[in-house]
Amino acid sequence: MESIATNLQAIRSEIEAACLKAGREPGSVRLVAVSKTKPASLVREAFEAGQIEFGESYVQEFLQKQGDPVLEGLPLQWHFIGHLQSNKVRSIVGKVALIHGIDKLSTAEELSRIAVRENLQVEYLLEVNTSGEASKYGMDPRDVLPSFETLHALPNITLRGFMTIASPDPASALEEFRTLRLLLGELKNISPEPEKLTELSMGMSGDFEEAIAEGATMIRVGTAIFGWR
Ligand SMILES: *Cc1c(COP(=O)(O)O)cnc(C)c1O
Repeated sequence: MESIATNLQAIRSEIEAACLKAGREPGSVRLVAVSKTKPASLVREAFEAGQIEFGESYVQEFLQKQGDPVLEGLPLQWHFIGHLQSNKVRSIVGKVALIHGIDKLSTAEELSRIAVRENLQVEYLLEVNTSGEASKYGMDPRDVLPSFETLHALPNITLRGFMTIASPDPASALEEFRTLRLLLGELKNISPEPEKLTELSMGMSGDFEEAIAEGATMIRVGTAIFGWR
């Protein structure tokens, strides 16, 4: 396998190329390096190659890695990209820059309760099941607009946009990314604070070019940086 630094450099050029092709500013797409199942030493290696934002999917693993002495003092920004159960919310609040995987009102309510109690402001994305696959987490796209008023009223938490995991086939993925982008546009139309709804977290190692073409503002890339899990 190539080194992490080489992989990161290659992905950054691919992001730039995809942005140019889509007529977008290369700086408008953030790369979240997905380090799940990989040791803290590799996170450190990626940091030394200029990577600041990392994504983790499992609460226990994240907490362990974040506390690893090998990463002590580094100005890392963590994203929680896994499915978040209500009973795990408390463990990660205050420790991550953004939570991508909220897919139910009840979890958002728990997030709000804890944010209020800890006197924190927390930003999150709503995970949307754009593919309709039963095996995937995420809110049904049809439920998003009707849920918004309730979500918006919850104190100390701010919805910043959506996250999705697309189907493996690129043509379907493109459609699903488009669905997410259009849904964000509809949500902005009904939101009293549309300027807060800026984020589309979509695209992984196999489909980030399609996601950038459809407006991704964050891509979550694991395998192409750290190798197979
Ligand atoms: C694992 C994971 C990724 C990274 O996937 P790769 O195909 O390894 O790039 C992205 N997003 C989520 C939600 C993940 O769980």
